[in-house]
Amino acid sequence: MKLGSGWTPWLPLLAWLLLAIGCGVFAGPLIGLLTAAVGFALIAISRTHSLAQVKALSLQPDFDQFANHGDESVAALHQRLVAGREAAEALHGQVAAMRETLDLLPASILLLDASHSLVWANATAAEMLMIDRVNHVGKPITQLLTEPQLKTALQTDFGWPVEITMAREHSPRIEFSGVRNGAKGWLITAIDVSTARRIENMRRDFIANLAHELKTPLTVLAGFNETLDHYNDLTADERLEIFGHMQHQTSAMQRLVADLLALSRLESADDQAPMDTVVLSEVAARCIDVAVRVVAAPCKITSSGLAERSVFGATDEVESALGNLLINAVRHTPTDGMITVRLLDGADGALRIEVADTGMGISAEHLPRLTERFYRVDRGRSRSAGGTGLGLAIVKHVMHRHDGALEIRSEVGKGSVFTLVFPANRIVRKTQTD
Ligand code: ADP
Repeated sequence: MKLGSGWTPWLPLLAWLLLAIGCGVFAGPLIGLLTAAVGFALIAISRTHSLAQVKALSLQPDFDQFANHGDESVAALHQRLVAGREAAEALHGQVAAMRETLDLLPASILLLDASHSLVWANATAAEMLMIDRVNHVGKPITQLLTEPQLKTALQTDFGWPVEITMAREHSPRIEFSGVRNGAKGWLITAIDVSTARRIENMRRDFIANLAHELKTPLTVLAGFNETLDHYNDLTADERLEIFGHMQHQTSAMQRLVADLLALSRLESADDQAPMDTVVLSEVAARCIDVAVRVVAAPCKITSSGLAERSVFGATDEVESALGNLLINAVRHTPTDGMITVRLLDGADGALRIEVADTGMGISAEHLPRLTERFYRVDRGRSRSAGGTGLGLAIVKHVMHRHDGALEIRSEVGKGSVFTLVFPANRIVRKTQTD
């Protein structure tokens, strides 16, 4: 039997380490680190295989009789085998520790042989890629992960990293990177980038929507400017009318900027609203006062149950939330309709402020998206009524900061009910105000 000695068994380790250092320098520290860690593990695993044979041999029942064998070379061989067994045990311990460490990494790690069959996978890969770490060993990776982009990248060793939307529940977006270890095999790492991509998309949509929102009033303003510039013979009344339109568009942009600033303030503030005492009857009175001025002929607004009730929070934020709901209700309810603001005590100790209207209502498919920024059921109607499409996004944020929620119920043709729900810990009990 020949036990490996000298440099030969460490050559793959050196090769892999050089590869790791190369990755660290050229492809980014994360992949370099991963490669180095996995390189050590891979070599340790392969060394363990040969030493495992030594260990098996040394555990034979009649093994120890060779310790004092008359033939010196047999005794020497016995000694080396004992040393080999101890080395194997130490190495097993190291491999176990290394595997445990690799299991803790947030990235998936797959070791493949040269023909792309699975040699080993860490625990993250088992969860993220649904790899069975026992039964899938030896299976071609392209059978386990059937996305064609991965197959192409492995075959051509080109185009890494490959970002793939996986054909499974929730369609996660996974970024695969592959490093080939010469003819020995592959190290594949995979990271779930779904959340990062979702945030990027939201940011892109937001900027596109914002540009669109600003474009309309700016185009109208530029048009009126040109008219004033070109036509010197306009009558005073005509000029007045044009200035009226220009004022309308300027106000729309001012409202948009004000709502954007409000949203940004809410987003950059602490997660929790302060615990000031917000007197609901006073807040509601101010909101109703503003709402009735928003349209030329508002419908009737009544309120009930608010007297002597308060919540812990930020007065300006609660006022902005209730104000937005009331302005929306006034805009979507005809003059002969009715709006009711009422306070209800929930069975779970929560406090509910309902704004119910008998207006046009909203069909069910729109309800889940209403609190998205710039989402409107009818864009043209919202704009001409002076809406910015940010009102309900603001309300949702305010309620989130008050540990509460916004609930929406609606029926087309019958009306809508928007409810601000404050949890028990935000309610001022009567004794607390005495
Ligand atoms: P907007 O500035 O357009 O009102 P919001 O975020 O406040 O933006 O509301 C989003 C959309 O929800 C509105 O454009 C409108 O289509 C719908 N909506 C809000 N409140 C009501 C309501 N009380 N009745 C009918 N539709 C409503």
